Amino acid sequence: MRPDLVGLKPYGAPHLDVPVQLNVNENAYPLPEVVIDSMRAAVDDHFAGLNRYPDREFTSLREHLVTYLNTINERAGDSVALEPEMIWAANGSNEVLSHIVQAFGGPGRTVLGFTPSYSMHPLITTGTGASWLSADRKDDFTLDAETVAAEVARVEPDIVFLCTPNNPTGTSIGLDVIEAAYDNCSGIVIVDEAYAEFSRPAKSSAMTLLEGRPRLVVSRTMSKAFACAGLRLGYAVADPALIDVLRLVRLPYHLSEVTQVLACTALEHAEVLLGNVDRLIDSRNRMAAHLAEVGFTVHDSDSNFVLFGNISSPAQLWQKLCERGVLIRDIGIDGHARVNAGTEEETDAFLHAIDEILAESPDILAAGPAAAAADSGARTAVPTDLPTRDDPTPSPTSTKGTP
Ligand code: PMP
Repeated sequence: MRPDLVGLKPYGAPHLDVPVQLNVNENAYPLPEVVIDSMRAAVDDHFAGLNRYPDREFTSLREHLVTYLNTINERAGDSVALEPEMIWAANGSNEVLSHIVQAFGGPGRTVLGFTPSYSMHPLITTGTGASWLSADRKDDFTLDAETVAAEVARVEPDIVFLCTPNNPTGTSIGLDVIEAAYDNCSGIVIVDEAYAEFSRPAKSSAMTLLEGRPRLVVSRTMSKAFACAGLRLGYAVADPALIDVLRLVRLPYHLSEVTQVLACTALEHAEVLLGNVDRLIDSRNRMAAHLAEVGFTVHDSDSNFVLFGNISSPAQLWQKLCERGVLIRDIGIDGHARVNAGTEEETDAFLHAIDEILAESPDILAAGPAAAAADSGARTAVPTDLPTRDDPTPSPTSTKGTP
């Protein structure tokens, strides 16, 4: 075994068979019948051809993604000149990110992220043999251009990860922060926009910055707002020259014929599949309002989940909710937990369980409701990327003192 992998823990959100699963930020709603029917018909035409390898360059899928992204950008009031050669796709955005880090990271290279953030960014990095460096977000989990510029200039990483809206905090960053990162390093800047479709009104994507920035890459996924987590389809948009390099690290025919056909069909039904986004935002807002009302601190979210704090023991809260059939995520941030927006019924079940737990154990709140409300701007210190029972990540190398 490689010595640098010894002691690391694999990604490990628990997959428990409980009725209300609000722990991995999926879209809570199943696929509508009309989409299922189209998918069935589309795959039917391809069975006989499964003796052949699929289109290595996923040509039709690239075209479908361009069409979809054009509507997304138009909706945000932007026009971005996209071509199929600017698109990459793989089995989930995890694989897309891993292709990028394999191609531009690797042994002897450094990758910088601003934590707390998505736990796979460091794991993907160390998997390629590159070193992970993390810099802290501010106490309210925001990031500003000045801080990012200074940190990136100091560390001079080969790759920078920015995540907006950020998992697990829900925080968005402005385009100025992305520009600041880009302008202050000579490496690749990855903007992970896995949850972008949940930002409403729509924010301008980092795609609007692609022109003239050949080191910028924006990754997205069909796993979240698009309700297709089981399909495994993520994609990235960047300069054709950057995309071309990814061909060196992908395995031949990495996207199966079935994946390509189903993804194209899903994209043809984009409007229907995104139809539940507003309902999920309503659920998220209802959760946030209720959690705040009963004494938790709640962080603003542009995504389909809520990070809440003022919890005396996140592990205990997780356990008590689990006993009531509700699965949330203990993401290893001191005094905090994350819950994702469910269907209306799931949201009711979660809030009902929270009320029951508070009635039975009011000390699950770290400070009383009144104290928490008075202190809502402040938080306890946040350790970043700590491996936890629920969401293990590799031990980070702090950038403090080790540029
Ligand atoms: N980026 C972020 C920020 C995520 O939260 C996730 C999934 N939790 C991913 C990427 C990967 O998603 P997928 O591989 O399903 O596209």
